[in-house]
Formats: sequence, structure tokens, C-alpha cells
Amino acid sequence: MARLELNDPSLIKSQAYLNGAWVGEPQDPILNPADGTPITSVPALSEVEAEAAVSAAYQALQPWAGQLAAVRAAALRRWLEQIRQHRDDLAKILTAEQGKPLAEASWEIDYAASFVEFYAEEALRIAGEILPSHLPKSRVMVTKNPIGVCAAITPWNFPAAMITRKCAPALAAGCTVVLKPAPETPLSALALAELADRAGLPQGAMNVITGPAEPIGRAWCDDPRVRLLGFTGSTEVGKLLMRQASQTVKKVTLELGGNAPFIVFADADLEAAVEGAIAAKFRNTGQTCICANRLFVHDSIHDRFVERLAERVNELVVGDGLDPETQQGPLINTAALDKVQKLLADAVAGGARVLTGGKPHPLGGTYFQPTVLDRVAPTMAITQQEIFGPVAPVIRFSSEAEVITQANDTPYGLAAYFYGRDLGQAFRVADRLEYGMVGINSTALGSVAVPFGGVKQSGIGREGSHHGIDEYLELKYLLVGGL
Ligand code: ADP
Repeated sequence: MARLELNDPSLIKSQAYLNGAWVGEPQDPILNPADGTPITSVPALSEVEAEAAVSAAYQALQPWAGQLAAVRAAALRRWLEQIRQHRDDLAKILTAEQGKPLAEASWEIDYAASFVEFYAEEALRIAGEILPSHLPKSRVMVTKNPIGVCAAITPWNFPAAMITRKCAPALAAGCTVVLKPAPETPLSALALAELADRAGLPQGAMNVITGPAEPIGRAWCDDPRVRLLGFTGSTEVGKLLMRQASQTVKKVTLELGGNAPFIVFADADLEAAVEGAIAAKFRNTGQTCICANRLFVHDSIHDRFVERLAERVNELVVGDGLDPETQQGPLINTAALDKVQKLLADAVAGGARVLTGGKPHPLGGTYFQPTVLDRVAPTMAITQQEIFGPVAPVIRFSSEAEVITQANDTPYGLAAYFYGRDLGQAFRVADRLEYGMVGINSTALGSVAVPFGGVKQSGIGREGSHHGIDEYLELKYLLVGGL
């Protein structure tokens, strides 16, 4: 912890946050993936505290929902102010628990803050409507009301942004929240809760519970007072939670796995496509749900593309994220390392060729060499599963129709990318890709102002933008007669 050298060490919490108080004993160690050292420990709470958190959120609901929108907006702005003031400390905490380079962590804190800023503003714009009435002397009105207590379950790959992307629109809408961060990375969530507390968010409006996933998730799914379950994580757990939530007919918003195609057409700007592939593949050591998972490259440009990509990938600096030179950090844990090695070995056994990388990094631990793999076939496991690691598998293609079919040949539908300069082709391909988000000659999909989310087995609902707040609102229709 000394290595972190925080300006405000009190942001490292060893307790959970329930009903405006810090509770529980430090039990589960949180390890820095860069070197395996413990940072601190957090409580292993159970369904008892999970239920207590729902009670707190339920108690806080009516007073919070009944506040003027301007009051809720002001509270969010105070939280924003705290996050901005502590940006550098939050980024260091994030890197320490997650491993991503400090520059990426700082970007993520800004991204996290942008949701608080945006939804503080959006709180003021929740408006209903008056519709044509079907009766004389009457009015039909539609109001938008907070859905109620929301449960949020978040992953380890974006330990700060996934917190605010759920909590900020929920709170802006007048909902209250119970949140369970990933067991690998609870410290960013707890630090954000500490800052919400300092900002004077009312007691019980936001609760952060740490501990084993299954009993906490089940307690929230079973509780009829929880009206929405927002989840970001694997498709497998998403399906399980959807089943569990069906018992109380909760609304679910799910942002699940992906298998993003990255297509390079014959007329693409080669340098731009290579840089795009680096950004879409190696960011966060390949551990994002929108990371390019399959690189389809047209025959005519293939050799030049893979040569240049391998050159650039070779230049990536691997190391501890807290070192300012680092461009790629460690993988989150040994299970992630094992998965990458297994997929790679299977592909090589099936005829794929390693152009660069391909091995655990000499730094040891969970570091892996940034890797480019050529001669990959669409039947290989590496193209069908989410790699979640720094391996770029390249597949050749020769026609637009063929590549669209292959790109869509997956149960997932989160993000897709393509590079090419033919405008007609761009719109044709964008229309036919069965994905929630499509990057055309660009890979920087993340922004507060856009509806982030997927189709097919990549999810339900959208986060971010003015659409994002609608997930937390219910329509109510009022018929007023006898006027
Ligand atoms: P990953 O494989 O990336 O860790 P998961 O879907 O397993 O993705 O985890 C995402 C989040 O879901 C984490 O907060 C994790 O603790 C939580 N989680 C995992 N299993 C369950 C479960 N059975 N019930 C509720 N939450 C779960």
C-alpha cells in the first residue's frame, strides 16, 4: 500500500458501505495483479447484509424520489466534484487492484466522472407528456417515475466506470441502489462510495456490499423490493441472473460478453487499420467486452497488414501499470492466463502461426506477451470464445458477403469494427452487421453520450446517453375525467 502513495490514503476502504455506515471486518485480501501483493482486505458479507442493504435502499427510496430533480442533480454534482478532486488517487487505486496502465486508469476515472456529470444534467430533463385523449372532457397524461430500488452487479475490467454508469442514472432518476462490485476489484467502488458519502448523498441511497457473489446475487434477485437488476459480466452469469430475476418479474439490463469482429477491407487505410487494431485489441490487456476478438483481413492487403501489425505489437511496453512507460499490464489472475494459453495452444495445434509473442512474458506472474496469430480458421475455439487477453487472431477473407456471414456467425452481438473507404460498402456492411455498436474507421466507442449495449446474447438495454436513464424510469399513464 505504501507504493500507492495516495494523497488521501483514507480512500482505501476495508469495510463495506451499508445505510451510510462502514460495516464488516476485513477478510478477503485484494491482490495487486502486477506482483501479487495484498493491498488490503474487504469483508465477506452474506445474504443478511445484502438484505439489510435492500431495506436501507427501500427506506431511502421515497424521500429521494420525492426530492426536486434540482436537489438530486446538486447531490450528483457534489459527488462529481469529489471524484474530480481525487482523480489521481482513484486512478492509482484502480491500477493497483486491476493492473491496467495508469494512463488507462486515469481515462477510466474521467469516463466514470462523465456519467455523474451527464446524469446530473439529465435529472433535470425527465419530462412526461400529454397525449390525445380518447374521451371528451378528459386529459391523458404520461409521467416518468423511478423504477425503485436497483441492484447492480459489476465486473473487474472497468472497476470505476461500471459503478457510475449504473449508479448515476439510477440516482438521477430518483432510484436508490445496492451494488456488488467484482470480488477482484472492490476498492474503486468503495472509494467512490466514500466520496458519495463526503458529497452528502442521503443515507441508504447507495450501498456497496462485498462478499461471495452467489448468496448476495440470489438475495437481491429474490427480493421483490428490488425492481431492476443491472448486470455487466459474462453471458453465463447474465443468463443465470435473468432466470433468478424472473421469479419476481424484475426488469433486467444486461451488458454481457462479446466476440467483436474487426474487418479490414481491401481499400482500407492500412496504418489507420493497424492502429485501430492495436487500440481495439490490446487496450486493458485485451480484457474488455468490446475488444476485437477476430481480425478479418482481405486477401489483397493481408500480408502487409499482418507484417505491420506484428511490428507495432512488438513495440508495446509490458509492465506494472503504475510505471508511466507501461502500455500493457498483467492479466487479472492466473485463470485468465491459463485460458489465453489454452486457446493459443489449441489454435497452433490446428495450424495457426504465431507471428509475434505467444508466450508468458519474462516478467512472470500473469503477464503475457502481446501476440499476433496468423492462419487462423473460423472453426477454432479462439475465434468462438471471448479471449479476454492480448492475442490478435487474423483470418483471411476474399468477399464482402463471406466476411459478413462469418462476422455474424456467433451468438454474441456487442461491438463490431471495420476499416474501408467505400461509402456504399460502409453503409451496406453497417446495416448487415448484427451488433449493437459498429465502429467504422474508428474504434473509440466509449463515450457518455452514446447508447452502449449489445444485441443477441450480448445483452438487453443500453447504458449511457439520454437513452440510458430510461432504463431506470417507468411510464405511468393517468386518465383524468370529468373536466
Ligand atoms: P468474469 O468471468 O468476467 O469475472 P462474471 O460474470 O463471472 O465475469 O462476473 C461479473 C460479476 O458477476 C462479478 O461481480 C461477479 O462476482 C458476479 N457474479 C458471478 N457469479 C454470480 C452469481 N452466481 N450471482 C451473482 N453475481 C455473480
